[in-house]
Amino acid sequence: MNCEEMSAHLIDLLQGELPPDLLAATRQHLQACPCCTALQMSFMGVRALVHRSMETPLTAAERAQLAETVLSAISLEDPGVGARPDPMTRPR
Ligand SMILES: [Zn+2]
Repeated sequence: MNCEEMSAHLIDLLQGELPPDLLAATRQHLQACPCCTALQMSFMGVRALVHRSMETPLTAAERAQLAETVLSAISLEDPGVGARPDPMTRPR
């Protein structure tokens, strides 16, 4: 598995929806790849914040942290931002 495949499976991994063979492959990749591990951590942090925000509104500091986490996750995932269309930054 490479980083591109890993990022495609990351959401399913976090939601526990990967079949066992893919689960093993993603775990193996995560052990060898600090970039994808950092990305996974970022997603987990974002998910925790989003989950919390459904119960109580985020503070300004938490909102800033969320934005920073998302932005750093994007730059980790794709060092050449702008090289391909990105749904987060694409102009309407
Ligand atoms: Zn990777």
